[in-house]
Amino acid sequence: MLFTVNWLNKIFPNVKGEVTDKKIDSILTDSRKKAKDSLFIPIVGENFDSHEFINQAYENGAIATLWEKGRKEPEGLPESFLVFYVDDTIKALQFLANAYRHEINPTVIGITGSNGKTTTKDIVASIAKEQYKTHFTNGNLNNELGLPFTILSMPRETEVLVLEMGMSSFGEIELLSNIAKPDYAVITNIGESHIEYLGSREGIAKAKLEIITGLSNTGKLIIDGDESLLNHVHQQDNVVKVGFSSKNDFVISNVEILHHKTTFTGSDGEDYTVSLLGSHHAKNSGYGIIIGKLLGIPKEKVKKALETLQLTGMRFELLKGRNDVSLINDAYNASPTSMMAAVEVVKQMDGFETKVVVLGDIYELGDQSKKLHANVANVINEQISVLYTVGNDSKAISDAVKGKFPNMTVKHIENKEDVPNELQDYLNNQTLILFKGSRGMELETVIRQLQ
Ligand code: ATP
Ligand code: MG
Repeated sequence: MLFTVNWLNKIFPNVKGEVTDKKIDSILTDSRKKAKDSLFIPIVGENFDSHEFINQAYENGAIATLWEKGRKEPEGLPESFLVFYVDDTIKALQFLANAYRHEINPTVIGITGSNGKTTTKDIVASIAKEQYKTHFTNGNLNNELGLPFTILSMPRETEVLVLEMGMSSFGEIELLSNIAKPDYAVITNIGESHIEYLGSREGIAKAKLEIITGLSNTGKLIIDGDESLLNHVHQQDNVVKVGFSSKNDFVISNVEILHHKTTFTGSDGEDYTVSLLGSHHAKNSGYGIIIGKLLGIPKEKVKKALETLQLTGMRFELLKGRNDVSLINDAYNASPTSMMAAVEVVKQMDGFETKVVVLGDIYELGDQSKKLHANVANVINEQISVLYTVGNDSKAISDAVKGKFPNMTVKHIENKEDVPNELQDYLNNQTLILFKGSRGMELETVIRQLQ
């Protein structure tokens, strides 16, 4: 059970039907899904109005609905079906999520940043699970609908709630933070994603810092302490800085990237192993270690969680392809920062004669797109044997690299479909091939053809 109809009526007093202590088991926003004893929340989007699907929601198990005042009354439903009238169903969803968050009152952890939100969320959740009943964002449901939905799917016995907070413009993180009211907040890094809407990296930093608005007075803000754009918050005593430079509160050193894991030493004197590849994941683990400490979880449990971590797919996933070639599927998404981070990891990986990087377009970079793509070229050096760029704007990367390294094969390929052919000569057990690009590029379709 989530809550009773009685409780819901305290939140939304304007109701048609008999209010009882009947239990609501789940929230339904997609009327096609079956969900017993659920509350339907009809969302109105640009191209759809879910109020039209109320009968389907009823057939699939809804016993009550929110309803925007003034809309044509639902028809064909039994008397027992409850209708709660609200001004705006999206705002009502968010308001309800906030009320339920306070009703259950778990320790709430909000995670934002340009890159590494989902990974850090999964790391923090794995650590919290070692000791507490933990509920966390499923996949990437991190926006103004996904976050309240995540809160409203938390079981009543939840002790720790871990929420990913995403955004593409100003005001969005403030909204999410005010719904979630985090006890601890994390800013994983400041990159370039959504620069189209935020103007500059300074703008991006400002937008991420909106997470402070809902942060509890006694809470902590955990940040990337290596990021100079966050310098001005360093002074505050509720801030914990994590990073590689010695001025941080939690300093990460001795990072080593091995075949299937990354090891590092923390300034707490402990050696850690995380089953992810890349120094940025040492940092993401650092955020998890700090949260673990704040939650009072013993170090041994934190270490175990990091060592046995399993992430959702397509995030730097090491796979085997035809003729035993090693493939890295990092095609889940990309920004300039994360693309550079991925190339850096490939450069540091031992045991391969040939390293190939296949880089697709990075979307949503606005009028700075070509320049930001070209920047990625700065991390390419002779440790890479072959650079293929795929799509349109990614051509700026290969253009910037062309001619710089005499032994490197550099080529731009317009059609993704041509990539497998171009890779034929490299399919052997001495080669490592990285695939990285925006979600819309769907580079995983290329990977599948090589398996
Ligand atoms: P989205 O905005 O798509 O939700 P996200 O912030 O949730 O992205 P993840 O999905 O965790 O990010 O990771 C995306 C990519 O960012 C990874 O493939 C990885 O290469 C890179 N990355 C992860 N952590 C960091 C970090 N701390 N700094 C820089 N890059 C990172
Ligand atoms: Mg994410």
